[in-house]
Amino acid sequence: MLTKRLSRRTFLKASAATTALLSVGTFEFKSWQKIHADEKTNLTTIPTFCNACSSKCGLLVHVKNGRVWKVSGQPDHPFGKGKVCARGHALASIPYSSDRLTQPMKKIAEGKFEPITWEQAYKEIGTKLKQIIEKNGPGSFVFINDPRPTGKFYGPRFLNAVGSSNYFGHETVCSNARDTGFNHTIGGIPGGDVANSKYIVFIGRSYGDGVRPASVQALIKAKENGAHVVIVDPRLNNTAPLADEWLPIRPGTDLALVLAMSNVLVTEELYDKEFISNYSVGFEEYKKTIMEYTPEWAEKITGISKETIIRIARDMAKVKPKAMIEQSWRGAFGSTYANSVDTGRAVALFNALLGNIQQKGGYIFGKSPKLGKLDESIHPTPPEATIPRVDAEYPLVSHHTGVAAIIPQKAKEGIVKAALIIQTNPVRNYANPKYMIEGLKSLELMVVIDIQMSETASIADYVLPEPTYLERDDVIEVTPGVKPAISIRQKVIEKVHANTVPADRIFTEIAKEMGLGDYFNFSVDQLNQAMIAPLGITLSELKKKGTIIIDDPVELGVVPKLKTASGKVEFYNESFKKAGFSPVVQWMEPLVKPDSSSFRLITGKQSYHSHTFTANIPYLIQITKDYNSERLWINRTRANQMGLKDGDLVEVVSELTKSKIRIYVTDRIHPECVFVPSGYGNFSKNLTYANGVGFSYLDHLPFHMDPIGGTPMIHECIVKIRKVGV
Ligand code: SF4
Repeated sequence: MLTKRLSRRTFLKASAATTALLSVGTFEFKSWQKIHADEKTNLTTIPTFCNACSSKCGLLVHVKNGRVWKVSGQPDHPFGKGKVCARGHALASIPYSSDRLTQPMKKIAEGKFEPITWEQAYKEIGTKLKQIIEKNGPGSFVFINDPRPTGKFYGPRFLNAVGSSNYFGHETVCSNARDTGFNHTIGGIPGGDVANSKYIVFIGRSYGDGVRPASVQALIKAKENGAHVVIVDPRLNNTAPLADEWLPIRPGTDLALVLAMSNVLVTEELYDKEFISNYSVGFEEYKKTIMEYTPEWAEKITGISKETIIRIARDMAKVKPKAMIEQSWRGAFGSTYANSVDTGRAVALFNALLGNIQQKGGYIFGKSPKLGKLDESIHPTPPEATIPRVDAEYPLVSHHTGVAAIIPQKAKEGIVKAALIIQTNPVRNYANPKYMIEGLKSLELMVVIDIQMSETASIADYVLPEPTYLERDDVIEVTPGVKPAISIRQKVIEKVHANTVPADRIFTEIAKEMGLGDYFNFSVDQLNQAMIAPLGITLSELKKKGTIIIDDPVELGVVPKLKTASGKVEFYNESFKKAGFSPVVQWMEPLVKPDSSSFRLITGKQSYHSHTFTANIPYLIQITKDYNSERLWINRTRANQMGLKDGDLVEVVSELTKSKIRIYVTDRIHPECVFVPSGYGNFSKNLTYANGVGFSYLDHLPFHMDPIGGTPMIHECIVKIRKVGV
């Protein structure tokens, strides 16, 4: 059976990427400082927040002679806690990238663009969008956002103004399955109070790879307090230095493990009976089902011994409620397998059995401050659009995220005709790129707002260049938590390229062209001031501090009314039943299975890349090159059987395509899968540094969608490997 207690030596052997984890906050622009060492001008320091991943950590940007000199962390920011990771440091070079888009452009032929004026861009886009909506209805228009603050406010407002409900985020390829499972089971995604926990199980989630400084610090604190940490992952990821044991689970079977651990809690009556009695519905139906999922049953499916399953469940029960299966993100149940939604449900229910909701060391639903609104009498709000969404066949998925991967299909069917896409790269990141391109090319109007010519921008009808996050003001950001916070992103340097325009102005000008300008008759400063007014904070105070913690902490030990249909934990779920799915969580096989001659292709983050976006930062791609870290991980025993040696060049062959890549032979991966890091495989010729580095797993992924969570199931992909060179 596969269970590995980790020795100190194993920790130290963990890959070079571990260095990046342990060095959070130490990378600096030394070469830049050296070149400019003779400049005596005083530094000015301006707070803002990072844009290199969803954490949006607070930054202090040090500016010298009008240029970004370096960044450091805002001590008060809940996610950064004074630290900045490698990505955060390196992204601060982006204003000066030679790959920046510098003027609005219009497509004149396949792959060819001509510069146009902003006035022409606004006029043509506004006119065309109006015509499309008049002819096909507002539901033919979609907006796709990365979860950046300005898009989160202006996107829905613009959609409401034109009458469309079609807001989409990138979660279709990130956390949609987990979110869907959690939302309908416990009413949202809590934070894990890792620092105070005594037993933490990570399923597919790695703080050492998907880095957030505060999370790493919390895990270190937990370890110092004697917490037991278990990694469940087909790959020994880079959280290894902070873990006690690794369960190299068969990929796609995490659901079986969690069901069996739950079985132990229920059959041995180790669960929190008082919590279940007071705060849940449907426990008896769940209990009947869970009886089938014994540790013996799960051992055969997962490859994890029944003794290990029983031991971990019992040990967690001993320290409950200060124990948790961490809530994860994309990990093993974000958007990965056919059974990911149910894995999310099972994980949420296991935590409920531990009674850890709103308890120290458990799951905590954070607070968000109540923000103010613009004065309606001066700045009218458009009525909320109520027409059906184009992804209505996924009724369980939150409308705050949506199922963006469905858009190409809807475009091909002629249902979606126009798309506005802001600083996100669906072509490269959401599903199979060829499929995405084919679908998106059916649109009559595709507008992309970005700072570089991404693969998505490359096929747009109009490409509109924004200033980078260091050159513009944005809408304020709320960080929910035990102690919620608000932060502001503000302009720290003048625009490097004069002809770039921030997204809020772009929305406003297009709206004006469509006769909807009254809904956008305010500036970002006016909006921010209105939003923070009820908190008794002034804009100048926020701009000075960057982040302000709201003095309204969560009261631990008090279980709130949950945001589920019943207001309680739902062991039996009517919403799932109504949508045609099992109301009680149950085992479901993954979609595909490798045989003895093939592998499942799995993927995950590295600490120095977020998405394909960071691959075009020269400092970060240099780390990749220095450590050959774009390579494909393969199990040593399988490699030996195939006559493969570390560093060999192989061809990865799937039913869709072939990719060449060098291999990394290791004991740190399950024999049934190969692993390739995400974030590589850019093919836009205008991304100088990222182009041609590594390959993207999505190239190999057949287009298929999980029917509950609307994810492309990115680990449901079988490949073969053959050697093509040394
Ligand atoms: S974790 Fe790193 S990349 Fe993400 S916001 Fe914080 S500093 Fe930026």
